[in-house]
Amino acid sequence: MSLQQAISEFRGQFRGAVLEPQDLGYEEARRVYNAMIDRRPRLIAKCAGVADVMAAVRMAKVNSLQVSVRGGGHNAAGLGVCDGGMVIDLAPINYVRVDPSSRTVLVGAGARWSDVDHATHAFGLAVPSGIISSTGVAGLTLGGGLGHLSRKFGLTIDNLLSVDMVLADGRFVVASAEENADLFWAVRGGGGNFGIVTSFLFEAHPVDTVCAGPMLWNLEDAADVMRWYREFITHAPEEMNGFFAMMSVPPGPPFPEELHLRKMCAIVWCYQGSMEQANSILEPIRSYRPPAFEFFAPMPYPMLQGMFDGIYPSGLQWYWKADFFREISDAAIEKHLEYAALLPSWQSTMHLYPVNGKVNRVGQDDTAFGYRDAVWSEVIVGVDPDPANREKITDWARGYYSALHPFGAGGAYLNFMMEEGDDRIRAAYRGNYDRLTAIKAKYDPENFFRVNQNIRPAA
Ligand SMILES: Cc1cc2nc3c(=O)[nH]c(=O)nc-3n(C[C@H](O)[C@H](O)[C@H](O)COP(=O)(O)OP(=O)(O)OC[C@H]3O[C@@H](n4cnc5c(N)ncnc54)[C@H](O)[C@@H]3O)c2cc1C
Repeated sequence: MSLQQAISEFRGQFRGAVLEPQDLGYEEARRVYNAMIDRRPRLIAKCAGVADVMAAVRMAKVNSLQVSVRGGGHNAAGLGVCDGGMVIDLAPINYVRVDPSSRTVLVGAGARWSDVDHATHAFGLAVPSGIISSTGVAGLTLGGGLGHLSRKFGLTIDNLLSVDMVLADGRFVVASAEENADLFWAVRGGGGNFGIVTSFLFEAHPVDTVCAGPMLWNLEDAADVMRWYREFITHAPEEMNGFFAMMSVPPGPPFPEELHLRKMCAIVWCYQGSMEQANSILEPIRSYRPPAFEFFAPMPYPMLQGMFDGIYPSGLQWYWKADFFREISDAAIEKHLEYAALLPSWQSTMHLYPVNGKVNRVGQDDTAFGYRDAVWSEVIVGVDPDPANREKITDWARGYYSALHPFGAGGAYLNFMMEEGDDRIRAAYRGNYDRLTAIKAKYDPENFFRVNQNIRPAA
């Protein structure tokens, strides 16, 4: 049977939409968040449910089609889409069911964090996630998940109770601490290597209103603020999270016009407690180096989650570099200042996310995530709407990364990386890498799921 005949037959069994290059909606459906990625799959299977995912896997296998799996489509390297093969798009599998009595949340693999935040907030609950609410639940979770609640509640995977999955041979399984425990260990940090997750069961926490928002300082104060921050955030109460940023001030409210587009440094806070307690914890920095501007106020948690969505709409050019750090030395601070002064566009930025508190208290080999002993996760992103500036943002991000890498812990958070090859993947998993290759050999011996930060099956 020709591939075209196989696709026609597949359309007959499939409940969701099947899109080929000639179909209306194909161009839109092949696009991912990072506009630097431009791939043309042979077909896109928009799965309506688990049965569709099983059918798509079998169809791709029989017809030797390469497969990429798409959750929210936000991956830095655009790993949700492939050239010539089949995109298994999970977007229609979007549901969130909150069980307030057990404080658990069941989430379909096509959901975005805004969907989860909206549903859980009605019950005064939240699941720890990232800092941009349009990001997909699936990819962020499978890589680890770092955000505003990490110091208190750990990574997103530390709040994962079980997953439903479709494996490379089309079988459906549940993975949890009790069932297929090796698979459950691997998916907590091992990315999309082991199969397609169709739903996630999370533990949620009582998080309702938070005191949150950015404080901004002029670059002349950045060295002092960074030196203060490196001590503060490693000792602060775990209810307080703050990520450090080198950034340009967005040209719009609530920022005053005289600051628009100015290169500055910032700390974006999120405190789970009262404004009075937050103000007392933050008093030392306000009196030591008063911020040039701040927008720190009580707000519903979903408002904080969506605060930066408008700055980063889909369709911009993105170039990513990343590393973990255990310390921020004075010499490293000098390099940060040098590259902050060279920010190539107003959306380009560098963030340092705390990887401490609860994240460090989970054992190094309790999950696949490779850097429980890191203190910060750095991400450098060159971002611009204009493809003509691609080289400019890429060169800046690479230069910044190269200047800081010698101060790093060795590896990086895989969800903050473009495709950088096997050595960087090994460096991210360290001692967990061999165990991952063995589990890969058990569940996906032919490396069917390889459009990802790929872990090859052990021989
Ligand atoms: C603006 C922005 C902000 C971000 N902020 C944060 C942050 O604060 N914290 C953080 O931790 N990360 C953050 N990230 C990184 C984010 O975690 C990754 O980009 C992640 O891959 C996005 O997940 P997705 O489902 O949208 O990705 P997709 O592009 O859909 O998929 C990415 C990869 O995940 C795998 N995958 C997706 N769905 C499934 C599935 N259901 N089953 C198996 N494999 C699957 C696939 O292998 C694919 O290769 C951010 C990214 C962006 C673009």
